[in-house]
Amino acid sequence: MIEPARSHESSRFPIGMFRLGILAMIALMLASITLTWRVGDNIRDEMRAQIDVITAAEKVDHYGTVLEMSMKAVVTNGDSEAAARYRTIQPVLRETLSSLRRDLQSGQNEAAIATVDEADLKLIAMEYQALDLASKGKLPSAQKLIRSSRYDYLNNVYYEGIRAIEKHAARFVKSTRSRLNFYLWTIISLSGMSLALIVVGWFAFVGPVRRWGKEIEIARTAAESSAVKLEENQLELQKLNQRLFRQARVDPLTGLATRLSLNEDAPKWLLTDISPHQYCAAMCDIDFFKQFNDSRGHLAGDQALQLVAEAIRGSLAEGDTAYRLGGEEFLIVMKAASIRAAAVRADKMRLAIAELGIAHSESPLGNVTVSVGVSVLDRAGGMSIERWIRQADEALYEAKNGGRNRVVMSAAGKAGPASVTSIRAAASI
Ligand code: GH3
Ligand code: MG
Ligand code: MG
Repeated sequence: MIEPARSHESSRFPIGMFRLGILAMIALMLASITLTWRVGDNIRDEMRAQIDVITAAEKVDHYGTVLEMSMKAVVTNGDSEAAARYRTIQPVLRETLSSLRRDLQSGQNEAAIATVDEADLKLIAMEYQALDLASKGKLPSAQKLIRSSRYDYLNNVYYEGIRAIEKHAARFVKSTRSRLNFYLWTIISLSGMSLALIVVGWFAFVGPVRRWGKEIEIARTAAESSAVKLEENQLELQKLNQRLFRQARVDPLTGLATRLSLNEDAPKWLLTDISPHQYCAAMCDIDFFKQFNDSRGHLAGDQALQLVAEAIRGSLAEGDTAYRLGGEEFLIVMKAASIRAAAVRADKMRLAIAELGIAHSESPLGNVTVSVGVSVLDRAGGMSIERWIRQADEALYEAKNGGRNRVVMSAAGKAGPASVTSIRAAASI
């Protein structure tokens, strides 16, 4: 059974949606990778800046303390080692301050840094002066310079400035931390979105793909069983064709060949057979058969036809073929040396039928008999099959008119009207 075709829409794979989904996924993943990369860069820069600021602030604090203590040791004891330490560390502190200044670039800071720088330069000048005095052994003068109110003032300005810078550094670190948090959350969000997209993709695409796969499987199974059925049908059709071919060529009642067979065989005799034999047609018709049917019934008529056909078959020589042309008419095609020889054989057949002894009360002859008309195919003269058969028919007509139960040879083509001869007359030949 052929199933009705399903709607085209339901079985179509959502390829457009699938493509869009894949493109969206690729776009999001690329965006995610790019953003993560850039955010990673930012995080690295921010962290480096944060570490630099923290380290610089720590150094400023530490070097400030070391310088202060060294200066105290120089002016109190004239400690030359402390003086050397001062001279070494002082430029380092200056450099550290400059780097911190670079890291904390902002208009707000510029003022504080400038103040510290100015105070620092003045302090350094005073401290180097004190170092010189101490190195010359003028410790009281050096102490006086370091304990002067001007030195105290500059020192306070310097430390206040440093504290302001430290505060700002702390603020900078705090803001860096919040930016880092923002970047981290961005990465987490992007990863979350990618994950969500995968989940959405699973439900949006995997479902249809599975459904589609099932539909394909069903269609494949249906196609396979259709193919098997088709093969079976074809085999059945082939057998049927063979049966029909046989039925069309073999008469089911008598088993003799049919008119179709005659039509197919006839061209062979004309075109391909080059044997020296004559082809003779014996047209044979049961006498008073209508009356037989009427008196004995149709079934008995069929049986009589089968018996007559059997008798015809029994009297065939090699190379002969018997056809049932329809009703109670038979055509026997014989290969014979001459029309006379064929007529003799046809008469033997007539006798065999009569001797079957099938009672026919309605026939003046008492039994089922046949009349036969014989003609010869003039192959050399290019006679047509139709004409050949017609001549046999005409001879049969003569046989009927002549009293039935007899064989008459066709006289067509022969000279003189007396050429239509009763076989009984010819039998004396
Ligand atoms: P004639 O001697 O002139 O040939 O007389 P007839 O009655 O044989 O002639 P007609 O051709 O008029 O009758 C032929 C009859 O053959 C008609 C029909 O009842 C019978 N017949 C034809 N085919 C069959 C068949 O297949 N079976 C049976 N039982 N009878 C058939
Ligand atoms: Mg007839
Ligand atoms: Mg008849």
